Amino acid sequence: MFNQTRAAIIAIVLIIPLSTIAMWNSTRFQEFTETSVENQKIVALASFYPLYEFTKEVGKDKVDVSLLVPPGIEPHDWEPSIQDLQRIQQADIIIINGIGFENWFKDIEKLNSELTIIDSSNGINIIKEVNSDQHKDSHLDASLADPHIWLNPSLAKIQVKNIAESLIELDPDNSLYYHDNSENYIKKLDVLDSKIRNELSNCSKDFVAFHNAFIYFAKEYGLNQHTIVSNEPHGEPTSKTLEKIINLAKEMKIQVIFTEEGVDKRTSEVIAKELGGKALTLSPLEISETNTSYIEKMEANLVNLKEALCN
Ligand SMILES: [Zn+2]
Repeated sequence: MFNQTRAAIIAIVLIIPLSTIAMWNSTRFQEFTETSVENQKIVALASFYPLYEFTKEVGKDKVDVSLLVPPGIEPHDWEPSIQDLQRIQQADIIIINGIGFENWFKDIEKLNSELTIIDSSNGINIIKEVNSDQHKDSHLDASLADPHIWLNPSLAKIQVKNIAESLIELDPDNSLYYHDNSENYIKKLDVLDSKIRNELSNCSKDFVAFHNAFIYFAKEYGLNQHTIVSNEPHGEPTSKTLEKIINLAKEMKIQVIFTEEGVDKRTSEVIAKELGGKALTLSPLEISETNTSYIEKMEANLVNLKEALCN
Protein backbone atom coordinates (compact mmCIF):
# COMPACT_ATOMS: atom_id res chain seq x y z
CA MET A 1 0.00 0.00 0.00
CA PHE A 2 1.25 3.50 -0.82
CA ASN A 3 2.19 5.75 2.11
CA GLN A 4 -0.37 8.24 0.86
CA THR A 5 -3.12 5.66 1.13
CA ARG A 6 -2.04 4.80 4.64
CA ALA A 7 -2.07 8.48 5.59
CA ALA A 8 -5.58 8.84 4.21
CA ILE A 9 -6.77 5.84 6.21
CA ILE A 10 -5.23 7.12 9.42
CA ALA A 11 -6.86 10.49 8.83
CA ILE A 12 -10.26 8.85 8.62
CA VAL A 13 -9.87 6.47 11.53
CA LEU A 14 -8.27 8.88 13.99
CA ILE A 15 -9.46 12.33 13.13
CA ILE A 16 -12.95 12.14 11.72
CA PRO A 17 -15.67 11.30 14.24
CA LEU A 18 -18.54 9.50 12.56
CA SER A 19 -21.26 11.29 14.42
CA THR A 20 -24.80 11.80 13.31
CA ILE A 21 -25.57 15.16 11.88
CA ALA A 22 -28.70 16.03 13.73
CA MET A 23 -31.04 17.75 11.37
CA TRP A 24 -33.88 18.16 13.77
CA ASN A 25 -36.32 20.80 12.75
CA SER A 26 -39.26 21.19 15.05
CA THR A 27 -41.42 23.17 12.61
CA ARG A 28 -41.06 20.50 10.00
CA PHE A 29 -41.74 17.78 12.52
CA GLN A 30 -44.97 19.49 13.47
CA GLU A 31 -46.20 19.19 9.87
CA PHE A 32 -45.73 15.45 10.17
CA THR A 33 -47.36 15.03 13.53
CA GLU A 34 -50.37 17.30 13.37
CA THR A 35 -53.40 15.29 14.28
CA SER A 36 -56.66 15.88 12.57
CA VAL A 37 -59.69 16.79 14.61
CA GLU A 38 -61.87 14.73 12.31
CA ASN A 39 -62.50 11.56 14.22
CA GLN A 40 -63.66 9.70 11.16
CA LYS A 41 -60.16 9.44 9.82
CA ILE A 42 -58.04 6.41 10.59
CA VAL A 43 -55.20 7.52 12.86
CA ALA A 44 -52.03 5.95 11.49
CA LEU A 45 -48.41 6.01 12.56
CA ALA A 46 -45.69 5.13 10.07
CA SER A 47 -42.35 4.05 11.43
CA PHE A 48 -40.15 5.96 8.97
CA TYR A 49 -40.38 8.13 5.88
CA PRO A 50 -40.97 5.75 2.93
CA LEU A 51 -43.80 4.09 4.85
CA TYR A 52 -45.25 7.48 5.77
CA GLU A 53 -45.36 8.40 2.11
CA PHE A 54 -46.76 5.03 0.96
CA THR A 55 -49.52 5.27 3.58
CA LYS A 56 -50.31 8.86 2.63
CA GLU A 57 -50.55 7.91 -1.05
CA VAL A 58 -52.96 5.06 -0.32
CA GLY A 59 -54.98 6.64 2.49
CA LYS A 60 -55.07 10.25 1.23
CA ASP A 61 -58.06 12.06 2.85
CA LYS A 62 -59.29 9.06 4.78
CA VAL A 63 -56.18 8.45 6.85
CA ASP A 64 -54.45 10.79 9.23
CA VAL A 65 -50.89 9.54 9.03
CA SER A 66 -47.95 10.83 11.00
CA LEU A 67 -44.34 9.85 11.25
CA LEU A 68 -42.94 8.10 14.28
CA VAL A 69 -39.19 8.59 13.75
CA PRO A 70 -38.90 12.35 13.23
CA PRO A 71 -37.27 13.96 10.18
CA GLY A 72 -33.51 14.20 10.40
CA ILE A 73 -33.20 11.25 12.76
CA GLU A 74 -31.59 7.99 11.76
CA PRO A 75 -34.07 5.16 12.48
CA HIS A 76 -31.36 2.60 13.36
CA ASP A 77 -30.75 3.95 16.85
CA TRP A 78 -34.11 5.55 17.51
CA GLU A 79 -36.05 4.73 20.67
CA PRO A 80 -39.61 5.97 21.33
CA SER A 81 -40.02 8.71 23.95
CA ILE A 82 -42.88 8.81 26.46
CA GLN A 83 -44.76 11.09 24.02
CA ASP A 84 -44.21 8.60 21.21
CA LEU A 85 -45.58 5.81 23.39
CA GLN A 86 -48.64 7.96 24.05
CA ARG A 87 -49.09 8.48 20.32
CA ILE A 88 -48.86 4.74 19.81
CA GLN A 89 -51.55 4.26 22.47
CA GLN A 90 -53.87 6.63 20.61
CA ALA A 91 -53.32 5.27 17.09
CA ASP A 92 -55.57 2.91 15.15
CA ILE A 93 -52.79 1.46 13.04
CA ILE A 94 -49.03 1.38 12.98
CA ILE A 95 -47.12 0.64 9.79
CA ILE A 96 -43.71 -0.94 10.19
CA ASN A 97 -41.11 -2.08 7.70
CA GLY A 98 -40.59 -5.36 9.53
CA ILE A 99 -37.63 -7.76 9.10
CA GLY A 100 -36.19 -6.51 12.39
CA PHE A 101 -35.73 -2.91 11.17
CA GLU A 102 -37.78 -1.56 14.09
CA ASN A 103 -35.66 -2.64 17.04
CA TRP A 104 -37.93 -0.72 19.39
CA PHE A 105 -41.05 -2.56 18.31
CA LYS A 106 -40.86 -5.59 20.61
CA ASP A 107 -43.23 -4.51 23.38
CA ILE A 108 -45.49 -2.17 21.44
CA GLU A 109 -48.39 -4.60 21.23
CA LYS A 110 -48.72 -4.54 25.02
CA LEU A 111 -49.29 -0.77 24.90
CA ASN A 112 -52.41 -0.86 22.79
CA SER A 113 -54.33 -4.06 22.26
CA GLU A 114 -56.63 -2.33 19.74
CA LEU A 115 -53.74 -1.37 17.52
CA THR A 116 -53.66 -2.87 14.02
CA ILE A 117 -50.07 -3.62 13.08
CA ILE A 118 -49.21 -3.57 9.41
CA ASP A 119 -45.97 -5.37 8.69
CA SER A 120 -45.29 -4.05 5.18
CA SER A 121 -42.73 -6.78 4.48
CA ASN A 122 -45.39 -9.52 4.37
CA GLY A 123 -44.92 -11.76 1.35
CA ILE A 124 -41.48 -10.42 0.44
CA ASN A 125 -38.62 -12.84 -0.12
CA ILE A 126 -36.09 -11.80 2.48
CA ILE A 127 -32.40 -11.87 1.61
CA LYS A 128 -30.43 -13.59 4.34
CA GLU A 129 -27.18 -14.22 2.57
CA VAL A 130 -24.39 -11.72 3.13
CA ASN A 131 -21.27 -11.70 1.02
CA SER A 132 -17.74 -11.00 2.14
CA ASP A 133 -18.06 -7.21 2.28
CA GLN A 134 -21.65 -7.06 3.41
CA HIS A 135 -21.33 -8.02 7.02
CA LYS A 136 -24.20 -8.21 9.39
CA ASP A 137 -25.95 -4.96 10.10
CA SER A 138 -26.93 -3.80 13.56
CA HIS A 139 -30.56 -3.69 12.54
CA LEU A 140 -30.54 -7.19 11.16
CA ASP A 141 -32.23 -9.72 13.36
CA ALA A 142 -30.65 -12.91 14.58
CA SER A 143 -31.39 -14.64 11.29
CA LEU A 144 -29.20 -12.11 9.41
CA ALA A 145 -32.19 -10.95 7.42
CA ASP A 146 -31.67 -7.71 5.51
CA PRO A 147 -34.43 -5.12 6.09
CA HIS A 148 -33.69 -2.64 3.24
CA ILE A 149 -36.59 -3.71 1.02
CA TRP A 150 -37.96 -0.20 0.36
CA LEU A 151 -34.99 0.66 -1.86
CA ASN A 152 -36.18 -1.79 -4.50
CA PRO A 153 -39.27 -0.26 -6.20
CA SER A 154 -40.62 -3.73 -7.03
CA LEU A 155 -40.65 -4.57 -3.33
CA ALA A 156 -41.94 -1.10 -2.43
CA LYS A 157 -44.97 -2.02 -4.56
CA ILE A 158 -45.62 -5.02 -2.30
CA GLN A 159 -45.31 -2.75 0.74
CA VAL A 160 -47.90 -0.39 -0.80
CA LYS A 161 -50.22 -3.33 -1.52
CA ASN A 162 -49.88 -4.58 2.05
CA ILE A 163 -50.78 -1.14 3.38
CA ALA A 164 -53.79 -0.93 1.03
CA GLU A 165 -55.05 -4.38 2.02
CA SER A 166 -54.90 -3.53 5.70
CA LEU A 167 -56.70 -0.22 5.22
CA ILE A 168 -59.40 -2.01 3.22
CA GLU A 169 -59.80 -4.56 6.00
CA LEU A 170 -60.09 -1.81 8.59
CA ASP A 171 -62.38 0.43 6.55
CA PRO A 172 -64.19 -1.74 3.97
CA ASP A 173 -66.66 1.04 3.05
CA ASN A 174 -63.82 2.85 1.32
CA SER A 175 -62.19 -0.20 -0.25
CA LEU A 176 -62.45 1.15 -3.81
CA TYR A 177 -60.84 4.41 -2.74
CA TYR A 178 -57.81 2.67 -1.17
CA HIS A 179 -57.59 0.26 -4.07
CA ASP A 180 -57.57 3.00 -6.72
CA ASN A 181 -55.09 5.15 -4.80
CA SER A 182 -52.70 2.22 -4.40
CA GLU A 183 -53.00 1.28 -8.09
CA ASN A 184 -52.22 4.86 -9.10
CA TYR A 185 -49.15 4.98 -6.89
CA ILE A 186 -47.99 1.55 -8.04
CA LYS A 187 -48.10 2.84 -11.63
CA LYS A 188 -45.66 5.58 -10.61
CA LEU A 189 -43.40 2.97 -8.99
CA ASP A 190 -43.54 0.94 -12.22
CA VAL A 191 -42.39 3.99 -14.18
CA LEU A 192 -39.53 4.48 -11.70
CA ASP A 193 -38.57 0.81 -11.95
CA SER A 194 -38.44 0.89 -15.78
CA LYS A 195 -36.45 4.09 -15.72
CA ILE A 196 -33.80 2.63 -13.37
CA ARG A 197 -33.67 -0.62 -15.34
CA ASN A 198 -33.30 1.12 -18.73
CA GLU A 199 -30.86 3.79 -17.69
CA LEU A 200 -28.46 1.44 -15.88
CA SER A 201 -28.69 -1.45 -18.33
CA ASN A 202 -25.50 -0.77 -20.31
CA CYS A 203 -23.35 0.48 -17.46
CA SER A 204 -20.77 -1.08 -15.17
CA LYS A 205 -22.08 -3.01 -12.18
CA ASP A 206 -19.91 -2.41 -9.11
CA PHE A 207 -20.51 0.50 -6.76
CA VAL A 208 -19.32 1.50 -3.28
CA ALA A 209 -22.18 2.53 -0.95
CA PHE A 210 -21.63 3.87 2.56
CA HIS A 211 -23.50 1.15 4.50
CA ASN A 212 -25.03 -2.04 3.21
CA ALA A 213 -28.49 -0.74 2.34
CA PHE A 214 -28.63 -1.62 -1.35
CA ILE A 215 -28.64 -5.41 -1.52
CA TYR A 216 -32.27 -5.67 -2.74
CA PHE A 217 -31.73 -2.77 -5.13
CA ALA A 218 -28.52 -4.25 -6.51
CA LYS A 219 -30.10 -7.67 -6.94
CA GLU A 220 -33.07 -6.21 -8.84
CA TYR A 221 -30.91 -4.31 -11.32
CA GLY A 222 -28.00 -6.73 -11.68
CA LEU A 223 -25.51 -4.58 -9.76
CA ASN A 224 -22.88 -5.43 -7.12
CA GLN A 225 -22.82 -3.51 -3.86
CA HIS A 226 -19.60 -2.92 -1.90
CA THR A 227 -19.62 -0.86 1.27
CA ILE A 228 -17.35 1.41 3.33
CA VAL A 229 -18.69 0.48 6.75
CA SER A 230 -19.44 -3.13 7.36
CA ASN A 231 -22.35 -2.59 9.72
CA GLU A 232 -24.74 0.21 10.63
CA PRO A 233 -24.29 3.77 9.22
CA HIS A 234 -22.68 4.96 12.44
CA GLY A 235 -20.22 2.12 12.51
CA GLU A 236 -16.68 3.34 12.12
CA PRO A 237 -14.67 2.09 9.18
CA THR A 238 -11.60 0.25 10.37
CA SER A 239 -8.24 0.77 8.69
CA LYS A 240 -8.55 -2.75 7.37
CA THR A 241 -11.92 -2.16 5.70
CA LEU A 242 -10.72 1.17 4.28
CA GLU A 243 -7.61 -0.42 2.85
CA LYS A 244 -9.76 -3.15 1.36
CA ILE A 245 -12.23 -0.73 -0.21
CA ILE A 246 -9.47 1.49 -1.67
CA ASN A 247 -7.73 -1.52 -3.18
CA LEU A 248 -10.98 -2.93 -4.53
CA ALA A 249 -11.96 0.42 -6.05
CA LYS A 250 -8.54 0.76 -7.69
CA GLU A 251 -8.79 -2.74 -9.08
CA MET A 252 -12.29 -2.13 -10.44
CA LYS A 253 -11.43 1.38 -11.64
CA ILE A 254 -14.22 2.80 -9.48
CA GLN A 255 -14.04 6.62 -9.37
CA VAL A 256 -17.18 7.53 -7.42
CA ILE A 257 -17.48 6.69 -3.72
CA PHE A 258 -20.91 7.13 -2.23
CA THR A 259 -21.82 8.81 1.01
CA GLU A 260 -25.23 9.19 2.66
CA GLU A 261 -27.22 11.54 4.89
CA GLY A 262 -26.33 11.70 8.56
CA VAL A 263 -22.74 10.52 8.25
CA ASP A 264 -19.48 12.42 7.90
CA LYS A 265 -19.06 12.94 4.17
CA ARG A 266 -15.31 13.34 4.56
CA THR A 267 -14.89 9.58 4.87
CA SER A 268 -16.09 9.05 1.29
CA GLU A 269 -14.35 12.20 0.08
CA VAL A 270 -10.96 11.08 1.39
CA ILE A 271 -11.31 7.68 -0.27
CA ALA A 272 -12.49 9.27 -3.53
CA LYS A 273 -9.55 11.68 -3.49
CA GLU A 274 -7.23 8.73 -3.09
CA LEU A 275 -8.76 7.28 -6.26
CA GLY A 276 -8.70 10.57 -8.17
CA GLY A 277 -12.50 10.50 -8.20
CA LYS A 278 -15.31 12.09 -6.23
CA ALA A 279 -17.89 11.44 -3.54
CA LEU A 280 -21.61 11.54 -4.35
CA THR A 281 -24.72 10.77 -2.32
CA LEU A 282 -26.56 7.47 -2.57
CA SER A 283 -29.41 7.81 -0.13
CA PRO A 284 -30.77 4.78 1.76
CA LEU A 285 -33.90 6.90 2.43
CA GLU A 286 -33.62 6.16 6.13
CA ILE A 287 -33.46 9.76 7.33
CA SER A 288 -36.65 11.60 6.46
CA GLU A 289 -36.84 14.80 4.51
CA THR A 290 -40.14 16.60 4.38
CA ASN A 291 -39.76 18.27 1.04
CA THR A 292 -38.59 15.42 -1.17
CA SER A 293 -40.72 12.46 -2.15
CA TYR A 294 -39.66 8.79 -2.25
CA ILE A 295 -39.70 8.85 -6.05
CA GLU A 296 -37.70 12.09 -6.23
CA LYS A 297 -35.08 10.66 -3.87
CA MET A 298 -34.86 7.45 -5.88
CA GLU A 299 -34.47 9.49 -9.07
CA ALA A 300 -31.69 11.54 -7.45
CA ASN A 301 -29.97 8.25 -6.55
CA LEU A 302 -30.32 7.16 -10.17
CA VAL A 303 -28.65 10.36 -11.45
CA ASN A 304 -25.67 9.75 -9.14
CA LEU A 305 -25.52 6.02 -9.94
CA LYS A 306 -25.41 6.89 -13.64
CA GLU A 307 -22.55 9.24 -13.00
CA ALA A 308 -20.75 6.44 -11.13
CA LEU A 309 -21.52 3.57 -13.48
CA CYS A 310 -22.29 4.92 -16.94
CA ASN A 311 -19.35 7.22 -17.68
ZN1 LIG B 1 -29.71 0.65 6.85
